[in-house]
Amino acid sequence: MTLRAASPFAVNAVACLRDEREEESTKPYLARGSRAPRCHDCRVIESHCLCAWRPQVQARSAVCLIMTAKEVFKPSNTGWLIADVVQDNFAFIWSRTETNPQLLALLADPQWQPYLVFPGEYVEPERVTHEVQVDSRKRPLFILLDATWTEARKIFRKSPYFDGLPILSLLPEKLSRYRLRRSTRSEHLCTAEVAALCLELAGDGPASSALGAYFDVFSQHYLDAKHQLPLDETTAAHAELAPFVPQGAITMQARSGTAA
Ligand SMILES: [Zn+2]
Repeated sequence: MTLRAASPFAVNAVACLRDEREEESTKPYLARGSRAPRCHDCRVIESHCLCAWRPQVQARSAVCLIMTAKEVFKPSNTGWLIADVVQDNFAFIWSRTETNPQLLALLADPQWQPYLVFPGEYVEPERVTHEVQVDSRKRPLFILLDATWTEARKIFRKSPYFDGLPILSLLPEKLSRYRLRRSTRSEHLCTAEVAALCLELAGDGPASSALGAYFDVFSQHYLDAKHQLPLDETTAAHAELAPFVPQGAITMQARSGTAA
């Protein structure tokens, strides 16, 4: 928490989890494709570092990621991006046998209205909602299961402390509208895209846009690095993200060779 005052950026709870795990581990964890040096802060291969594109934006909502240990170390994990954007972010590694008391305290904290984001068809209908109540006393806290679908279902079934929470189920028309607007190609939205949609439902429009664009920029840096293509920082996604990045517009002008 002391870091928060010193840095204009959010403290990234996923990065903290990774660092903790790395310290605990006796042998270094090797992520797939780890031969190329990766930036410690954004996990992208150094030549395609994303750090200059980290947005700064206000959000009333908070996000809590429930992750598997494996997910924390995946360079492709997108929960990390959410924690870069949303100031009030929390992350916990799920365990079937142990419950983290800090997670229970967070769920019980009266300043938050927690919503567990999960498909409604797997839940008793009376628990399901499709809207986010914008309440002046409580701020929304979106709990996202940042894991594979099989793991997410297991986490859902075997975490009794989630039993009393309302389930936020994103309607198919909202999902497809989001997919169209952001020209997302994959059939299933990743965790960062789901979070962007939740932020939009909660009235956190700027944070939603910043996260959507940040995810697109991340995907581009990540894939270009993977395919050994030169870095292009003049794409439409970079232009969309630039207003949220302190140095974004300057970087774009420098890279594209245009003057202000
Ligand atoms: Zn970086």
